[in-house]
Amino acid sequence: MRVLIVEDERRLAEALGQIMEEQRYQADLVYDGADGLDYALSGQYDVIVLDVMLPKLDGLEVVHRLRCAHVSTPVLMLTARDEIDDKISGLDHGADDYMTKPFDSGELLARVRALTRRQGEVQGEELCVDDLTLSLTTRALTCREKSVRLGFKEFAVLRLLMSSPKAVIPKEEIISRVWGLESDAEDNNVEVYISFLRKKLSFLGSRVSIGTVRKVGYHLEVPAP
Ligand code: CA
Repeated sequence: MRVLIVEDERRLAEALGQIMEEQRYQADLVYDGADGLDYALSGQYDVIVLDVMLPKLDGLEVVHRLRCAHVSTPVLMLTARDEIDDKISGLDHGADDYMTKPFDSGELLARVRALTRRQGEVQGEELCVDDLTLSLTTRALTCREKSVRLGFKEFAVLRLLMSSPKAVIPKEEIISRVWGLESDAEDNNVEVYISFLRKKLSFLGSRVSIGTVRKVGYHLEVPAP
């Protein structure tokens, strides 16, 4: 996980960097908006923590230009208490969340985690939900240091669940998207693959599990951080 911190108050920037590094995030610090934009445009970060009041280019302009350049890295904006209006404009400009200074480091980390697992977003060739990463090219499912290769159907079912991690996916939808509309696959087929996947998730020791909503379908269960 790589985090870009753009904050002109150096002591705060360094404190933020330290908080991130304690969580084993790799943090880069920059101290003005122009550098912030240059670094962020590289697209190599998983999340950007961006102050609003910055020299050279303010945070609102940075996020606006990033979004214009189609860089969709999640942005957490930091605002001072007397810059309430900035929160609203920050979100209008394409920020994903904001925090008011001073803030609690636990809350900051919770928000960073929430942003980085946002909607199981496709990050390059991977789909990530909490501690799980599914490679869309190799079908490898990885949790920390463990990894397993999924079969085609397992992969297709899990990909569907990880693409909308907050939604309950109806069984019929799983059948039609994995087996095809014309197939004669039945609920049992889905159940069999869900049970394979559950065994693999438990083998990997993931925090994520597959929940059942009786007579409806399945969804991912992700415990609160
Ligand atoms: Ca500032």
